Amino acid sequence: MTVKDFMTVQQFINKDKYGLVARAYEFAKKAHQGQKRKNGEPYFNHSLAAAESVAEWGLDEATVAAALLHDVVEDTPRTLDEVKQNFGEEVAFLVDGVTKIGKVRYRGVEAKVENLRKFILYLSQDIRVILVKLADRLHNMKTLYAVHPQKQKRIALETMEIYAPLAYRLGMQKLSGELEDLAFPYIYPEEHKWLIANVKERYEEREKYAQRFKPLIEETLNKNSVNLTKIDSRAKRYTSLYKKLLRYDMNIEQIHDLVAIRTIVNTVEDCYAALGIIHKLWPPVPGRIKDYIALPKPNGYRSLHTVVFGPEKKLTEIQIRTAQMHDEAEYGIAAHLAYQQTKDSKAYIERRTSFADAKTLSWIQQLRNWQKDFSDPEDFLRSLKIDFFKDRILALTPKGEVIDLPAGATPVDFAYQIHSEIGNKCVGAKVNGKIMPLNSELKSGDVVEILIQKNKKPSGSWLDFVKTGSARHQIKAALRQGKNENPALRVKSSPQKTEIKIAANDRIGLLKDISAIISRSHINIIGVNSGPSAKFAIFKILCESTDKNKIEKLLLKLKKIKDVKEISYRLV
Ligand code: MN
Repeated sequence: MTVKDFMTVQQFINKDKYGLVARAYEFAKKAHQGQKRKNGEPYFNHSLAAAESVAEWGLDEATVAAALLHDVVEDTPRTLDEVKQNFGEEVAFLVDGVTKIGKVRYRGVEAKVENLRKFILYLSQDIRVILVKLADRLHNMKTLYAVHPQKQKRIALETMEIYAPLAYRLGMQKLSGELEDLAFPYIYPEEHKWLIANVKERYEEREKYAQRFKPLIEETLNKNSVNLTKIDSRAKRYTSLYKKLLRYDMNIEQIHDLVAIRTIVNTVEDCYAALGIIHKLWPPVPGRIKDYIALPKPNGYRSLHTVVFGPEKKLTEIQIRTAQMHDEAEYGIAAHLAYQQTKDSKAYIERRTSFADAKTLSWIQQLRNWQKDFSDPEDFLRSLKIDFFKDRILALTPKGEVIDLPAGATPVDFAYQIHSEIGNKCVGAKVNGKIMPLNSELKSGDVVEILIQKNKKPSGSWLDFVKTGSARHQIKAALRQGKNENPALRVKSSPQKTEIKIAANDRIGLLKDISAIISRSHINIIGVNSGPSAKFAIFKILCESTDKNKIEKLLLKLKKIKDVKEISYRLV
C-alpha cells in the first residue's frame, strides 16, 4: 500500500523493448536456463523477484537490469566481461558489487557485527549495490524453507543481525521489518509459535476496530477541511511486537499500537492541524504524543504519533504524516533516490535531521549530508560513492572476518588486532594471496593471512611502522619480557655478573680449592679463564651474582687460600 506507484519490470520492458531492462531480462533468463532453485522453481524466478523489488522501490533501469543479472556471474558460465560488453560499465559495476558482498560471511561474533555492516556498505561503494543485495536477500528469505536446516539458521541470523539493521539504517523500515519477520521463526521457533497462538485473535479484533474507527477520522478531517490523502491501518510486525512484549512483561494489554491507524495528509501544516482536530474528539493519553517531525528518529523517520481514547474508549495509536514522509518511512534511501530521479525539486524537501546518537550514527549523517551536496540528480546518481571510511580501512581474515584498522595500517597491526600472540609470532603476511613485506600498507578489502612461527619474538624495528597503539604497546611489552628471558641481552643493559681475578702461585688442586669456596658461598660459576702471566698464574672467574656483600665476603675467604697472592673483582 504505497502512496507512490512505481513501475514493474514488465512496464520497464514495455516502455523500451530494446532497453537495458528488456535485454537484461532475456540475457539472465537464458543464462539461468535449466537451473533450479532449492524449492524446485526455475532459478530465473529469483532474479526476477529481486528486480521487481528494486523496481518497486523506484530505482533506475540500470539497477533493475543489475538485479536481473545479479547471479549471472556467480552461478552461470557468463562472465563479468560479457555483462560489461552487453550492458556497459555501470550495470557491470553493480553486478560485480553484489557478487563481492555475497562472499562476506557472518560468523556470529557480536563485537564484529557493526564492522561487517560497515564493510558491506564499503564494498557496495554505490548505494544501489546494497539495494540489489537487499532485494536478493528478501527473496532468499521468502524461499528459505527449502534450504537445509543448518543453512537456514545461519542465513536467518545473518539477515537479523546484518541485513535488517542495514535496511533500517538506510531508512527502509518496511523492508527491515519484513526481513526481521521472515528470519524470526527460524531463529526463535518457540517464541514464534507462542506469538501466533496468543496474538492472532487480538490482531483480528483490533483490525476490525480500526476499520470502524477510520471513517470517523476521515469524516472529521474533511469537515475541518484538512486534505486527507489516504488513511489505512497497519498491523505491528511480529518481531517488533515481540521485542516490545519483552519490555512489558509479555503483557499484551500494554501494547496500544498492535494495529495503528495511519493518516496521510498533504502538508506538514496539515499534520499538526489533523493532530489538533483528532485530539478534540478523542483525547490523547498524556505523554504518548511523539513529534518525529520536529525531532526525526536517527534513521530519518518523520511522523506524528499519538495514542488516543478512541470509540468505546479503546486506546489506539494514530500516526500522521505527509505522503513524502510516508514513502521515506517505507522506502528510506530508495525513496530519496526515487525523488531525485523524478527531478521534481519540489518533492525534495531538505530534511531537518536531528541525530539522537551522533557518534554511532555519524556515518548516516555523513551519508545524508553528502547527499544534500548534489543538486543535479544525474550527478548525484553518478557519484553515489561511499567515501566516509577515509580514515579507516576494513581488511578481512581468510575466513571473512572483518578487521577495522586506521588508514596506513600494516600486516603487523592486523596481526595484533586479531590476537597479541598472533602479533608476537608473526613472521610474514600474505595479502590477497601474495607474500608482502610486514611494513606494507593495507587497503580496504584486502584479505590478509598472517604467517606465524613458534617461539618467535617481535622485532623492535616494527615500532618504526606500526599504526595502532595496541600493536605498539604489545610489541614493547613483548620486548621487555624477552630481555628478562634471554641472558645474552642482559650484558648490554645492567651488570648481571661479577668477574673475580685471582693471581696465585699455581699448583695442583688450586683451582679446585677456589671453586669449592665459591660454591660453598652459593654463587654459581659461569666460566673460568686461566693463563700464565710474568710472575703468577691468573684466574678469571665469572660468577652469577652481583651482590656486593656476598662477593666481598667471598673475596676474604679466597684470600686465605694458600698461594693466592692478589685478588680483585669487577661487575660485568
Ligand atoms: Mn541471488
